[in-house]
Amino acid sequence: MTSQECGERRERWSCPLEEIHYERRDARRVAVVGGGMVGLATAWFLQERGAEVTVFERRHIGAGSSWGNAGWLTPALTTPLPEPAVLGYGLRAVMDPTSPVYLPLRADVRLWRFLLGFARRCTTRQWRRAMAAYVTVNDRALDAYDELGAGGVTAPTREADPFLVCFRGSTQRRGMLEELDAVLSAGQKIDFELLDGAEARRLDPVLTEHVGAAVRLHGQRYIDPPAYVGALAGAVRARGATILEDRAVRDVSDLGDQVVVRADHGDHRFDAAVLATGAWLDQLARRFGVRPVQAGRGYSFSVPVREMPTGPVYLPEQRVACTPLGDRLRVAGMMEFRHPDEPLDPRRSQAVVDAVRPFLHGLELRKRHDEWVGSRPCTVDGLPLVGRTTSPRVFAAGGHGMWGIALGPLSGQLLAEAIVTGRTPPALSPFDPLR
Ligand SMILES: Cc1cc2nc3c(=O)[nH]c(=O)nc-3n(C[C@H](O)[C@H](O)[C@H](O)COP(=O)(O)OP(=O)(O)OC[C@H]3O[C@@H](n4cnc5c(N)ncnc54)[C@H](O)[C@@H]3O)c2cc1C
Repeated sequence: MTSQECGERRERWSCPLEEIHYERRDARRVAVVGGGMVGLATAWFLQERGAEVTVFERRHIGAGSSWGNAGWLTPALTTPLPEPAVLGYGLRAVMDPTSPVYLPLRADVRLWRFLLGFARRCTTRQWRRAMAAYVTVNDRALDAYDELGAGGVTAPTREADPFLVCFRGSTQRRGMLEELDAVLSAGQKIDFELLDGAEARRLDPVLTEHVGAAVRLHGQRYIDPPAYVGALAGAVRARGATILEDRAVRDVSDLGDQVVVRADHGDHRFDAAVLATGAWLDQLARRFGVRPVQAGRGYSFSVPVREMPTGPVYLPEQRVACTPLGDRLRVAGMMEFRHPDEPLDPRRSQAVVDAVRPFLHGLELRKRHDEWVGSRPCTVDGLPLVGRTTSPRVFAAGGHGMWGIALGPLSGQLLAEAIVTGRTPPALSPFDPLR
């Protein structure tokens, strides 16, 4: 390396060189643990700032919740999970065996602690505070996708036109309107219109007579999650990263000037490490003071359809999301509080089938494939965990719960900035992993 190159590298890393006391010329080598949307986006934006990145993934790219999700990039719906209505809804739902929420009634101290903490935050005041944090990032979330697109990530984001939120009738729609009102009052821009059932069917003829009222949201987008994550991994690799699959990380430790990543097949040293292990975040991050995450498992499958919906369809009462993915429709739903490594429970998949059946014509529900369960990494306060940990060299990137696809790229972009400049961008402050 020439002294000029060295100078350029030092310039790009100037703040961490001072703040983290990086003295080494290779002080830009960063390990990213976890090959989901959040880890890969962080890797990409780190590369954008000149870092050399190695991604460790215990299985394969997209093995976690970044694979089978609904793929919505919907700032209008990206809100904190703990809110007053969720509490009442959740309590009613767990009493009903066909409900879209499943809570195992067994002694799991960790889970009950999480649920109590969550319930305590289901207040209007807490929701407003969390929503203010979301408004800041929601406004920029799609721009981060546009940067990825302009920078060579080949998978597209698609305009969701129309994006229809469907209800049995206007009574059932009331709760949603109250929520949209609150989101607007929080400062989030939302452009929407109200439709009756016939108007909704004119826009999307696959909707059945059971849809009696709808909200049409404008300005939302969606992706094909497996295709997008694959393309993002391809771009990260093409820009020179090493992606190590089947390489579980067992431990990360801070030696004071470097980080040691203890992975299957050996130890590796880096200048910094990012923990982006989704619902498994606690395993590596707890020792660095990061707040816990709880798996909120969701189910999805794909079905052939006689006629494809013209855009995504959301059934909030049933908690079901439908997304057109090429020649098949992905149907996703359910919130099941169990360990992320437990096997798929076919009863939960069936609950999603039963929930969607009345509302859409022409779904070949017996021919469903890609039946999948994945874990939303949920936090008690509904806010992500993105930023520096108790170690100045170890960073958390997780806890995005319901919204890691919509927000993953922006989180990655902001975290890369924090790592490289040593300054936490203001938008990340509410997501402090040590809060
Ligand atoms: C049914 C469903 C629908 C959803 N729909 C949407 C949606 O429409 N829009 C939206 O924004 N979000 C949605 N989500 C949420 C979204 O999927 C998640 O928030 C997001 O995928 C989290 O990404 P991640 O990269 O943090 O985690 P993951 O994608 O789970 O990635 C973590 C990775 O880390 C790996 N890993 C774990 N431990 C280790 C280790 N020790 N060593 C190495 N690797 C490790 C895992 O194998 C995994 O690949 C949905 C979720 C579900 C379940």
